[in-house]
Amino acid sequence: MELKNLNPDQRQAVEHDEGPLLVVAGAGTGKTQVITGRAAHLINQGKARPSQILALTFTEKAAKEMEERLDLLLPYGLVDTKVMTFHSFGSDILSQYGTEIGLDGRLGLINQAQQRLFLRQNLDAFKLNYFAPIGDPVALLGDLATYFSRLKEELITPKQYLAWAKKLKNGTSDAASKLEASKQMELAQAFATYNQLMRQRGLIDFSDQVSLALELLLNRANILKSIKTEIKYIMVDEFQDTNLAQARLIETLAGADGNIMVVGDDDQSIYKFRGAAISNILEFKLRYPKTKQIVLTKNYRSTQQILDAAYQLIQHNNPFRLEIKNKLNKRLVGTKPGKQPEVRPYTTFGEEADKLAESIKADLAKGLKGDMIAVLVRNRKQAAAVIDVLERKGINYHYSGGERLFEQEIVREMLSFLQYMTNPDDDNSLYNLLSGPIYNSDIASLARLSAQARKHNRSLDQEIRASTEDISLSGHIRDLDSWRRQALNQSAGELLYAYIDKIGYLKRLTDATQTDPGVVLQINKLAMFFTTLAEFQQVSHDKTAFGYVASLGTLTEEVEIAQPSDFETGQDLVQVMTIHKSKGLEFEAVYLFDLTAGAFPPRRRAYKLEIPIELATGEHISDEDWHLAEERRLMYVAMTRAKTKLIMSYSTNHGGIRAKRPSQFLAEALGHEPQAALPKALPASEQIKMFGASSGKKSTISPSFLHNQRLDLSVHQVEDYLMCPLNFYWKYVLNVPQPVQPAMLYGTAIHAVISYYFQQRRRRSVDLKDLEDYFAKTWQVEGYASKGQEARRLKSAQATIKRFHQREEAGKRWPKYVERSFNFELAHGTIRGRYDAIYEDSDGVEIRDFKTSQVETKLKADEKARASLQISLYALGWFASTKQLPTKLVLDYVETGQIGVTIKTAADIKTLEQQVNEACQQITSGSYPPGKNHFHCIHDKL
Ligand code: ATP
Ligand code: MG
Repeated sequence: MELKNLNPDQRQAVEHDEGPLLVVAGAGTGKTQVITGRAAHLINQGKARPSQILALTFTEKAAKEMEERLDLLLPYGLVDTKVMTFHSFGSDILSQYGTEIGLDGRLGLINQAQQRLFLRQNLDAFKLNYFAPIGDPVALLGDLATYFSRLKEELITPKQYLAWAKKLKNGTSDAASKLEASKQMELAQAFATYNQLMRQRGLIDFSDQVSLALELLLNRANILKSIKTEIKYIMVDEFQDTNLAQARLIETLAGADGNIMVVGDDDQSIYKFRGAAISNILEFKLRYPKTKQIVLTKNYRSTQQILDAAYQLIQHNNPFRLEIKNKLNKRLVGTKPGKQPEVRPYTTFGEEADKLAESIKADLAKGLKGDMIAVLVRNRKQAAAVIDVLERKGINYHYSGGERLFEQEIVREMLSFLQYMTNPDDDNSLYNLLSGPIYNSDIASLARLSAQARKHNRSLDQEIRASTEDISLSGHIRDLDSWRRQALNQSAGELLYAYIDKIGYLKRLTDATQTDPGVVLQINKLAMFFTTLAEFQQVSHDKTAFGYVASLGTLTEEVEIAQPSDFETGQDLVQVMTIHKSKGLEFEAVYLFDLTAGAFPPRRRAYKLEIPIELATGEHISDEDWHLAEERRLMYVAMTRAKTKLIMSYSTNHGGIRAKRPSQFLAEALGHEPQAALPKALPASEQIKMFGASSGKKSTISPSFLHNQRLDLSVHQVEDYLMCPLNFYWKYVLNVPQPVQPAMLYGTAIHAVISYYFQQRRRRSVDLKDLEDYFAKTWQVEGYASKGQEARRLKSAQATIKRFHQREEAGKRWPKYVERSFNFELAHGTIRGRYDAIYEDSDGVEIRDFKTSQVETKLKADEKARASLQISLYALGWFASTKQLPTKLVLDYVETGQIGVTIKTAADIKTLEQQVNEACQQITSGSYPPGKNHFHCIHDKL
């Protein structure tokens, strides 16, 4: 977008130079556009280097989208700008400087499922009394996990909480408030314990990424200063959804002069609690009295009719809106006329679904591309119904949301194996396993044996062993016995991997992908399942199948296959998503499905644990109002996604006894009650058809590195592709699970020590003992074939660390950057990586990579350095972002002390760039032939 295309208000925002800037504006007025426009303007004017701009947003998807818009605006494309989510920004700070506040260099980030598991494993430590779980603690653990996260987001420390709870306790007299006080005391203590335990184990959760980063900046002025010199301009999109921790983080970075731009729309705040969206923006102006405020009212997205309906709806949130509080005008003026948004009432739910599919078919027939059409839903159940009907009608779609991982067939299969391993009498699991695709046993004999087992009053396992009916079955059972013997000593993940590998199941699956693309999806799910196993092993004491099965209840809640949502897929796929995921996006046609009371707005879900009012910041409005207002904002977001066509449907008969009423939001948007559908009975055949077979669903591969036809690759991936495209295909397209190699674990541990050493050494002296202690904490024992192997590796690690320490202390030469991440743009996309160490002195720039493989001679080391694709790619990265050649590229073999050195000329870099460009071109066109180094390919190992 060039400056001349901007309207005067937008232009003002884009040309804004220094100092705080607040853009408040309704949907589709170009807020996101203005952020990218300003970033490009600053760069093009030479006011800032790309790396000096930090643009923050909420989701990976939004960050990608901003990167793309920015890429288009910059003459040399996107180089080194920091467009990222709050969480990844926080995590970058922590991994660079975490050691400064006593955090380990390599922090283990745990997700929500792991958080619950962690709580469960340490349940005793929390000394729960008021909250003591009577039955299954899963629900309580989930509540506690959420509560602790919320406390961190609100920047309430355990200390504050404890102090407040104590005061509460002392000030109470009657029994009821005494009980309340002891409940709060217990929560405060549990919160303190949780944090303490997490730190001891070197773990952090999602909220820690932001709150700890903030703590670091607040307590270490020197680090704050050095980060501030790296970042000159800060911009935040969707500011209305920042929580307190996030808001403070950016304000701390921006400092008193406040060189910070925030854009937001209070009417689109959909993750907020108690009206803090407004206070966020109001407070911003209080903090920065010199804030320049710009209001945009021209909408470039939707027709005037859609805008009017949305505006009519949101008026019902008055007076808790900025438009009223700050006397702004947020009535949006459209740039194009069009048709009224349409309400379609139906009698039955089945009819509503069918008509939705038919209408979409008609849109497609008229030439609308699939990805210009979105079906937005409030909850996942509705999404399932939409997906179901689209599949039946043969419409290709892409669903951005999780399918539940543990309900997937292939995952259930794997679970059956693990469960049968730990309990031979688990008849269900054994039956599933034997009848499933792995063994494909004869169902009739299995059924007969099951019946006999019941008659004999013994388990299926025992029955099969005793019977001679089907010898193939008893053969399988004996095979499985040998696996059970391993189950005791191996982690659940290793056991399962070895099992599906050895019995040839993995190979069978991967071979099948040649003929059946649907199998690809299955393999993806399998890979996801392995990821959750690894996550389990990260936090669990008992890592075996036994420990795993015992924790299943805690683990299976809510694990979703979320990945595909964030990837761009083909253009012909109709987009199905929840409204929450649609924030910031736009579509030609939007269908809002199943707008019935109770579904949207849903009944208020009582949060079991709420932060006490006295502790929380933000405005307080009554809970009921708050809930309704937030749902209304969600409806506002949904409606304003549409460019030209907005269809809202509902149906009264969902099969229950009582008829459903239309959502109150319909009347609010229209200004009158929606007309009801005339009741008419659906022919029975139609009702039955709903259960009919699906008509040939097509599955699509959506690799994680492809987004909007552009690539996003790591240096490792590029290297893998250049070595062997087929290998690349296996690893990154099919996501075939990779066994953990002990060598990799070893390398990771040594790297951690090296980076810890350099990070500390910048500020203080580090003795050998310090390094050894640190190493002991990060050393992982799993993955080694035997105790003996582990002991040997441990010894060699200790020797290496000692030698490294000696050498560095004598050399007294420290790198300028350690573990610095970088990215650069090529014709087909972005390449990302991380330098181990960069030295900068009078000789120039040296890029160094540490290696733990055995290279015995200097000659060999030099040779390796010359041939190393990785280090050449680093040189390319350095050249791309600084336009300068590094003077020296070094592979440092810390095991043997050999140092390999090489130099790359501008011509070398040019050739490499061409190679990489070609590779990228091939990847985009889906070409994956086996490479010269074919023996590296994993399928040979299978
Ligand atoms: P939301 O509140 O939904 O996040 P937004 O305010 O961020 O919306 P954008 O997504 O930046 O709005 O812009 C909406 C649409 O309007 C985009 O398609 C954008 O390209 C277009 N647009 C923005 N400004 C202009 C302009 N001056 N001329 C033409 N089109 C514009
Ligand atoms: Mg936007």
